[in-house]
Amino acid sequence: MKIIVCIKQVPDTKGGVKFNPDGTLDRGAMLTIMNPDDKAGLEAALRLKDQYGAEVTVLTMGLPKAEEVLREAMAMGADNGILVTDRVLGGADTWATSQTIAGAIRNLEYDLIITGRQAIDGDTAQVGPQISEHLDIPVISYAQDIKIEGNSVIVERQYDDRYHVLKAQMPCLITALAELNEPRYMTPGGIFDAYKKEITVWGRNDLKEVEDSNLGLKGSPTQIARASDKVRKGAGEQVTLDPAAAADYIVEKLAAKHVI
Ligand SMILES: Cc1cc2nc3c(=O)[nH]c(=O)nc-3n(C[C@H](O)[C@H](O)[C@H](O)COP(=O)(O)OP(=O)(O)OC[C@H]3O[C@@H](n4cnc5c(N)ncnc54)[C@H](O)[C@@H]3O)c2cc1C
Repeated sequence: MKIIVCIKQVPDTKGGVKFNPDGTLDRGAMLTIMNPDDKAGLEAALRLKDQYGAEVTVLTMGLPKAEEVLREAMAMGADNGILVTDRVLGGADTWATSQTIAGAIRNLEYDLIITGRQAIDGDTAQVGPQISEHLDIPVISYAQDIKIEGNSVIVERQYDDRYHVLKAQMPCLITALAELNEPRYMTPGGIFDAYKKEITVWGRNDLKEVEDSNLGLKGSPTQIARASDKVRKGAGEQVTLDPAAAADYIVEKLAAKHVI
């Protein structure tokens, strides 16, 4: 079985988020981590490898620095790493990102593609389903458990207060939740091995069946109209009243603001 896991290097929000003047993220200036949903997706792939035998390839699109996240994945146990990077891919929205990733995946053999449900920076949860659409394969989102049965994958899909059990023929794409599992740590031997392995680097010319008009900023139908910090709340007001008077006071305030 061949599994591709799409992993995104995202800003570590604990280190502070920095923006370019045009409102896009200044990724070069921030500390980074592997997107948490993707790490769970990778762990799920590694468990399938342990259980059934599989070759796990991790793939990322990003700046050359995104190689770090591939090394981390390989130190956890992934077999191969692919970095898709090229100036002309910069400024991509979700449409152009998924077109790029699909164009790269068309070069590979696969039974299963795993993406995270959502990246903690862009937060759209669009890229996984879009990749499946471009590749014309089924998608099962919000996976909380994954099993293989013959040529099919059986997935528990989270849904409000319950879950659905879905079965799909492979090849298939699954989007994983961070709650899916507890990802393993890198081992010292794994880190050593990861730095001995080659990472495949692909640029625009390595993407299959993708028009230039679907790539990078020019191929991005979404425009960032404006980006700004959240409006800060006022200082608030403290009053000391008995409970009945406090309730009347609050109701009066809410009515004055037309909230009730
Ligand atoms: C007009 C515009 C310009 C932008 N310009 C830039 C820019 O210059 N630089 C920039 O970094 N971002 C830019 N972005 C943000 C960019 O759109 C998102 O980073 C990207 O499309 C992924 O969307 P998301 O974070 O919402 O992913 P989601 O859809 O929430 O991610 C779901 C899953 O898809 C997979 N995935 C997503 N992105 C990648 C990736 N790159 N590699 C591998 N797997 C991935 C992961 O498994 C992830 O968990 C721009 C956005 C817009 C709208």
